[in-house]
Amino acid sequence: MSLASQTIKGLQTLLEKKEIQPKEIIDSVAEAAAVRDGAIGGYLGLDQELAHRDAEEISGGVLAGIPIGIKDLLNVKGQPCGCASKILSNYIAPYDATSIAKLRASGGIPFGRANMDEFAMGSSNENSSIKPVHNPWDLERIPGGSSGGSAAIVAADEAIAALGSDTGGSIRQPAAFCGCVGLKPTYGRVSRFGLTAFASSLDQIGPLTKTVEDAAILLGAISGGDKNDSTCLDESVPDYVADLQGDIKGMKLGMPKEFFGEGIDPAIRASVEEAAKQFESLGAEIVEVSLPHTEQAVAVYYIIATAEASANLARFDGVRYGYRAPDAENLGEQYAKSRAQGFGNEVKLRILLGTYVLSSGYYDAYYLRAQKLRTLIRQDFTSAFETVDAIIGPVSPIAPFKIGENASDPLAMYLADIYTISANLAGICGLSLPCGYMTPSDGQRELPIGLQILGAPFDEGKVLKLGHNFEQSTEWHQRRPSLG
Ligand code: GLN
Repeated sequence: MSLASQTIKGLQTLLEKKEIQPKEIIDSVAEAAAVRDGAIGGYLGLDQELAHRDAEEISGGVLAGIPIGIKDLLNVKGQPCGCASKILSNYIAPYDATSIAKLRASGGIPFGRANMDEFAMGSSNENSSIKPVHNPWDLERIPGGSSGGSAAIVAADEAIAALGSDTGGSIRQPAAFCGCVGLKPTYGRVSRFGLTAFASSLDQIGPLTKTVEDAAILLGAISGGDKNDSTCLDESVPDYVADLQGDIKGMKLGMPKEFFGEGIDPAIRASVEEAAKQFESLGAEIVEVSLPHTEQAVAVYYIIATAEASANLARFDGVRYGYRAPDAENLGEQYAKSRAQGFGNEVKLRILLGTYVLSSGYYDAYYLRAQKLRTLIRQDFTSAFETVDAIIGPVSPIAPFKIGENASDPLAMYLADIYTISANLAGICGLSLPCGYMTPSDGQRELPIGLQILGAPFDEGKVLKLGHNFEQSTEWHQRRPSLG
């Protein structure tokens, strides 16, 4: 087994025994990427020499000597941070994001820029302005998005683990589609400083890994308060790895009836129901819960997220950052042309939508109503968590589709975010992990199915413990795509 196919935990042991050096891990990851990434497209860049130099600086920590892939919207000092957008194609990060600084403080090495949907807008990675990402399980299919690169490199053993961001599902959904583990932390658990903002009230950074234990290790390393992000809470960081220990007997899990309604693929429903039985056999109790405002979540999310995006992306005007149109004759034209030439279609669509819902006359009808509904969505979860320890359900109602299949139908794409976006609107945490495989009617290859475990704010420990118990009692996480 190559070092690139190891877990963080496995490498920790080898490094501690001094059987390997960090440089060998970096080289193994680079070699795996050289062999496989031409077909997958998960990386936008990989600076091996820089990683070697970083490896020499390490003094210790839980991630000592372990390279971690970084989604292309996190600032790593001196490295490109293009957000897979033409408008930032020549942008070099001037500082480390707090999550990166914390990663380094734990001995981790940020290695590689992971492909993504432009500015994290998308669910399929088809919106990357550089190249699409291919699902390692079936190269004709999408890996999910927007952290599709992060998920694909982990699933294809081209990375040990990666960081992604989740505004409406962008860690959990690609993790589900690629058969790896993804965690969206509670809003305020991980600092957003240095994360290129998409929708500031929804964005969170989190890990994509091969096992739940690795997610616990990585989450522990990047969590904690930050004076540079006032929305990041100073809550103490528990020992998430220690919290994995012990059984889950007597824990109560809710299955929201709204997550099993119309539109869910029967194979996905069956796998998730099977997972619920597995939890029962582990001693947990399964009860039905209701999240009555689930149906409104997609509309609410696409109003709030686009409104915030329209404000956040106003800074890309050809003056301070990135691409500047060469042929503008005055300042107004420079703004307009730089943005028209620099942004891709989906980003433009979102800016237009966001600007519209915030404009006077429409603000009350759309934005304000969406904010009110957001409160109701949060209250749905608060009431549910009064009676259950966690909520389980599917991650996505559909399996990964073929590249290009839905590209001209944004509404169909948005509707498939139904089970992930309410966690962001409510600010709670959510884990995605493999719970089965299916062969779609239009394909020959097996595709992974994801299980979602949602927890109350700052209940990551409980969610990870549930996930770990499930994972260790099943074999789903041991499967690997067959790659050259
Ligand atoms: N698919 C959702 C969107 O396109 C979520 C994206 C995300 O979480 N960054 O907005």
